[in-house]
Amino acid sequence: MADDTVVRFEVQDGIGVITVDYPPVNALGPGVGEGIVAAVEQGEADPAVAAMVLMGAGRSFIAGADIRRFGKPRATPKRRSYDALEASSKPVVAAIHGYALGGGLENALCCHYRIAVPGAKVGLPEVLIGILPGGGGTQRLPRLIGPKAALEMIVSGRHVPAPEAKALGIIDEIVEGRDLRAEAIAYAKRIATLRPLPRVRDMTVKQADPGLFDTMRQSIARRARNQKAPYHCIAAVEAAVTQPFEEGLRTERRLFEELENSEEARALRYAFFAEREVARLPFLPKDLPLPEIRTAAVVGAGTMGGGIAMSFADHGIPVKLLDASPEALARGMGRIRDNYAVSVKRGSLAQAEMDRRLPLIEPVESYEAISDCDVVIEAVFEQLPVKQEIFAKLDAAMKPGALLLSNTSALDIDAIAAVTRRPEAVAGAHFFAPANVMKLLEVVEGAKTAPATLAAAMKLGRAIGKISAYAGNCDGFVANRSRVPFNIEQGLMVEEGALPEQIDKVMVDFGYPMGPFAVNDMSGLDVSYQTRKRRAAADPNYRGLPIPDRLVEMGRKGQKTGAGWYRYEKGDRTPHVDPETHRIIREVAAGMGIEQRSFTDQEILQRLLFSSVNEACKILEEGKALRASDIDVMWLNGFGFPRYRGGLMFWADGIGAREIYNQIAAWHQRYGARWRPAELLRRLAESGGSLREAQSPKSR
Ligand code: NAD
Repeated sequence: MADDTVVRFEVQDGIGVITVDYPPVNALGPGVGEGIVAAVEQGEADPAVAAMVLMGAGRSFIAGADIRRFGKPRATPKRRSYDALEASSKPVVAAIHGYALGGGLENALCCHYRIAVPGAKVGLPEVLIGILPGGGGTQRLPRLIGPKAALEMIVSGRHVPAPEAKALGIIDEIVEGRDLRAEAIAYAKRIATLRPLPRVRDMTVKQADPGLFDTMRQSIARRARNQKAPYHCIAAVEAAVTQPFEEGLRTERRLFEELENSEEARALRYAFFAEREVARLPFLPKDLPLPEIRTAAVVGAGTMGGGIAMSFADHGIPVKLLDASPEALARGMGRIRDNYAVSVKRGSLAQAEMDRRLPLIEPVESYEAISDCDVVIEAVFEQLPVKQEIFAKLDAAMKPGALLLSNTSALDIDAIAAVTRRPEAVAGAHFFAPANVMKLLEVVEGAKTAPATLAAAMKLGRAIGKISAYAGNCDGFVANRSRVPFNIEQGLMVEEGALPEQIDKVMVDFGYPMGPFAVNDMSGLDVSYQTRKRRAAADPNYRGLPIPDRLVEMGRKGQKTGAGWYRYEKGDRTPHVDPETHRIIREVAAGMGIEQRSFTDQEILQRLLFSSVNEACKILEEGKALRASDIDVMWLNGFGFPRYRGGLMFWADGIGAREIYNQIAAWHQRYGARWRPAELLRRLAESGGSLREAQSPKSR
């Protein structure tokens, strides 16, 4: 008997219909594989059944493995669904809607035919969680569509839309009808008597171009630095070309087992779950009625406002854009148009898509014109009086129930909300630059923010493709606040004798796409220069950074001026080490009376990251972030922290709270107050507790 709690078997018109029903997305959870085996066996045994259909209930075919089962001991099933489907003496048709990913597609590849609705997507995304398709996918896909296309799909892990999958040969037929079950039954009847059954395992794999696999290894070298899974994926597909099927399967299994409990796979699984957990705000009442967001407005058409408006348009939400002057508005619209045009030119956006998105962004010149919008996001200059003036106007103009959000980087949300008569409708919505690209959205709760406002802002972020993360109201909120100590140590280590290129190399070797000094040069050194000047004017004890100050004062503002920390050739963004920078560093440091010394790579890495770990602990103990894993999500999606290291706190946990605490305590002695160890860190060091599982009291 089939396990009819998760897999049903019914016979209709001589066709056995196997339906996987394991909400929400029919992952291959407990009992699903066994249920499919039992159903196939039942269908084979039933003389009334001529052919079978495998499909999913609800919104998807089979969306993949149950990731929670990886890395834990599992019983080996008597028979795997893959073998049962493929060996069936009666044809089985996979009927795909929604997603057929990972183990889902691997099951479909074991069926004798595959049909799909036009909106379906297929793929083998295992590499994204540090493993490889371990259900025969690396052996069957190359046989079905050739080694080159299979290699590209498996190494990228991308989702392939059904029409492309049909062109590649993964899908036999796209069915246009609305009733997939009926279409599948009709299809199964048509092919029921055809013999021999087409089995992918019996297909001859096309010859690979010589050099295909080595070329792929070279092309991923930068992206896949420090990782094993992409290379194992290549090796597994190579085995499909060089080994007989059964031997290839054994190779795939061996490579899979090497990856399943690797550091990177554990980190990537952790990141996957951290990104789900981040949406959960346990202190909010369940089933809060939330306002619908159908239209949006953005005030301030600058760098951030333009990017935010694009995020709305990119997700089909009409958005009105307002600025102080017609000129600024026109400039902003021009920049948006240019940004889209660049994507079209690069081939990452279709012209038709640009033509659909651009008209969704409407420039307007008055507050009346936006008063009816469901949400407004303010992105004007970072000055409290300017923001307060805007919020007073928004309060007067916006319809009741509208969300009033500020993209401030660090200003006090309560001081902004205080100028309105509806502080409950106000929250922070802190995007990261470039706002249409970066995934992170920090949603900042003010003292009077209503639960429904907070929940609606979190949901809004997800609706425009962001990962929304909760932050309490404090200077810099959570992401930037936890990053500031890193930036400070970066600056101070240069004074002490570490060179920018050494620090950059340490961080690139660690896994960042660029080193922090190269990033500074790219963004421009003048912005943080202005911030330091402002802070110094406000605070007599402010510790400035005379070296980058000197660079800016010499006109070295980064890439845009041809020199900053590095030197740049005209029209080229490649940083070149500059002896002039070394001279400036020595001169300024000597003037400050600081003796230069050498640094080990480990000291550099730890000074940068331990300082941030310590701050993250302070943020958690103050309840400004809910979970250590939320901070990890922010570092992954806001700062380019290497995903295969899980995130700042996951990485730190690998070292352990005790070791980090001891080092920080030593630096506290040596460098003073900025290294005061967080209370939470001390407690975890003493108890042997986990950094990555640390939570604020608010999250319980
Ligand atoms: P920007 O200078 O590029 O843009 C600001 C825009 O606001 C300009 O177009 C300006 O004309 C407009 N503006 C100023 N006063 C106005 C008013 N009274 N009414 C309407 N429009 C007005 O600045 P930006 O970099 O886009 O930053 C905007 C906000 O986003 C700031 O609060 C900043 O702290 C925050 N932020 C910036 C970044 C970043 O990396 N640039 C990241 C996150 C958040």
